[in-house]
Amino acid sequence: MHSNSALREQVRSQAEDRPGVYRFFGPGEELLYVGKSVRVRTRLLSYFRAPRGDKAWELVNEASRVAWDYIPNEFAALVREMKLIQRWQPRFNVQHKRRRIYAFVKVTREPAPRLLPVTRVVDDGATYYGPFPRVVALLRTVREVCHVLGLRDCPGTTPIFFDDQLEIFNAKRPPRCLRADLRSCLAPCCGRTSSAEYRKAVETARRFLEGRAEAPLHEVEERMREAAERMDFEYAALMRDRHERLRAFRDDLVAFRGRVEDLTFVYRVPGFRGDDRLYLLRRGRIQRDLPYPKGRKARERAAQAIDDVYGERDLGPGGLEPEDAAEILLVARWFRLHPEERRRTLSPERWLEEKRPA
Ligand code: SF4
Repeated sequence: MHSNSALREQVRSQAEDRPGVYRFFGPGEELLYVGKSVRVRTRLLSYFRAPRGDKAWELVNEASRVAWDYIPNEFAALVREMKLIQRWQPRFNVQHKRRRIYAFVKVTREPAPRLLPVTRVVDDGATYYGPFPRVVALLRTVREVCHVLGLRDCPGTTPIFFDDQLEIFNAKRPPRCLRADLRSCLAPCCGRTSSAEYRKAVETARRFLEGRAEAPLHEVEERMREAAERMDFEYAALMRDRHERLRAFRDDLVAFRGRVEDLTFVYRVPGFRGDDRLYLLRRGRIQRDLPYPKGRKARERAAQAIDDVYGERDLGPGGLEPEDAAEILLVARWFRLHPEERRRTLSPERWLEEKRPA
């Protein structure tokens, strides 16, 4: 018999075969592992049959307590599992897995804003775009966007003097790095650009990050063409590679943005023993969930919830938290793996039209 037979007996006598999320705790009540299953009892009992040395065997040997919550359906169990793992980082969940890192592009809030690739979103007044799954590629692409549009990438402490300010300071400033002479930076450090011109370049970058503008691509195409005309094939080849990377990045942006926009609907999920639920999703985030409304009063309440959720001001593609990124990617993956689930969704407008009591 397994050394942790008390736990096994508890599962055998109390757990039911229905969807849920389970948690194993260690002797100090630390959360060791979180899992989910559509049949909690069967899944938990399988841990006690694991061969010696297996990860599951190690887990039940170390655990001193197991607990589970029933969740009406697999979709909700998946989301709950993800949130618990994110919050508590249980050792057995994260030990053998590299934590997935998402990157964002930060547009700083400074007189001469910078574009920075970051892996954390903080409340500092900057705007964040993303999430992007390819962190390493992003580093290079952000650098290239900055070079193409002439945005600075020097430290935030660099003094900034726009040309419209030089008169005030009455002094010519030498450029503080080579990029000014290479013309890859508008050089707000030495008055070579006006605040309006620099702001325009930042706006172009923002629109590119939102998948709404292609200016950086056109700029590189132009340079490629000019280089070919003057038979500078080396530079033309450099520009061609840069163009390809920027285009791939743009495709990622557009594809991801498309997926997120597309994940805005009311989703009905059948649940265990008729515990059906309604999930209100907006841009891939679950804004609210409620029991599937059966009577007139319940439909009125649901219609009100839909009005509230979809009537709120939309913050646009910026302003994402890392937890949101994980949730969006999880929801996107769920509908990619289960395309048939789309049949259970309705746009908020359609739901209200069909179900709101007259
Ligand atoms: S040229 Fe000036 S503003 Fe541009 S990156 Fe260099 S130091 Fe910064």
